[in-house]
Amino acid sequence: MVANHILSKINNTSWIRAMFEEGEKLRKKYGADQVFDFSLGNPDLDPPQGTKEALKRLISSDQPGLHKYMNNAGFQDVREKIANHIYKESGIHLAGNHIIMTCGAAGGLNVVLKTILNPGDEVIIFSPFFPEYLSYIENHGGVAVISPCSKETFEPDPEDLEKRITPSTKAILLNSPNNPTGVVYSESTLKTVAGILEKKEKEYSSKILVISDEPYVQLVYDGVSAPMIMQIFTNSVIVNSYSKSLALPGERIGYIAVNPAIDNAEVLTSGMILSNRILGFVNAPGLFQRVIAESLEEKVNVEIYKQRRDFLYEQLSALGYSCIKPEGAFYLFPKALTEDDVKFVNHALEYNLLLVPGSGFGCPGYFRISYCVDMKTIENSIPAFEALAKKFR
Ligand code: PLP
Repeated sequence: MVANHILSKINNTSWIRAMFEEGEKLRKKYGADQVFDFSLGNPDLDPPQGTKEALKRLISSDQPGLHKYMNNAGFQDVREKIANHIYKESGIHLAGNHIIMTCGAAGGLNVVLKTILNPGDEVIIFSPFFPEYLSYIENHGGVAVISPCSKETFEPDPEDLEKRITPSTKAILLNSPNNPTGVVYSESTLKTVAGILEKKEKEYSSKILVISDEPYVQLVYDGVSAPMIMQIFTNSVIVNSYSKSLALPGERIGYIAVNPAIDNAEVLTSGMILSNRILGFVNAPGLFQRVIAESLEEKVNVEIYKQRRDFLYEQLSALGYSCIKPEGAFYLFPKALTEDDVKFVNHALEYNLLLVPGSGFGCPGYFRISYCVDMKTIENSIPAFEALAKKFR
């Protein structure tokens, strides 16, 4: 009954899920407070008070049409509010028609890829990468081409990128702040990438779309802000969601913003609205579109994540782990203390420590710590990290 490609994937579950399931077993055996689960990127913070109040207000209002079908792109007034908000933050003039409301960033990415890919078209992704990208590209007949980031900075390596662009390159997929490294790509690297794309587009008479996957764009520390992609790349779309910035991953709400400077932006936008419908999303959840429209100035308390990052980074560095100090998201991506990251992560289980191997993100030799867990758990986990380090010393 089940298609072969799905069968093979069922038996090949993601590392993140596999570790989470290991955690369930350990929690049953030892009790939840004895297990240090850094496997899932599931925000533990509550949505901001303003967002919760907007939700309560909307549920008890009699606003007409709140629960009905609408344009497949979403409520027009919500799209306009988001466009205005982007203008306020970046100075880029977008109209409501350049915004398509989506079922989270995952829904948005699938809509973009469905809209642009012909069979065999190539999409360049940078390792380490969010592992679902491989499935999303395959879903729409595309071929993922992996360009390894520089190991010194975990930013895209322009020289490597240039070698991988072919006449079949349809898009590059950027993710900054990055999952799993937490790195925020610098403006100078992005400008270098833009120069390479321009050169290659001329050489091949092609168009390459930059898809910027930005669910962590609000989670930045130390006064850093992620460069505005539309100011650097003309052929660009932003895929964003409120899963992390408002801690609403279960509500499946996000948007695509199309750069108005793209040639024939209207055709691209119409294609995406169609894809949103025919992929079966139909439209993004109506109630949460309205909640978002009233939450544009809200975000979770980023200071809490920053304190955890600082604490973990300092403690792990003192124990001999080496890691780039990330400026965003809620992940650390240290070097495993032995070359075999899978073996390393399996040893960590002996100390009830749940980590995800870098291999799961296309980058062996490292491991990911997701610090969306409370500070007490983080503090209590340090002896486990210490014991693990001793084992490999
Ligand atoms: N892109 C990246 C890099 C992510 O880390 C995630 C979720 O963890 C997503 C996309 C999917 O986000 P959403 O829950 O908004 O669909």
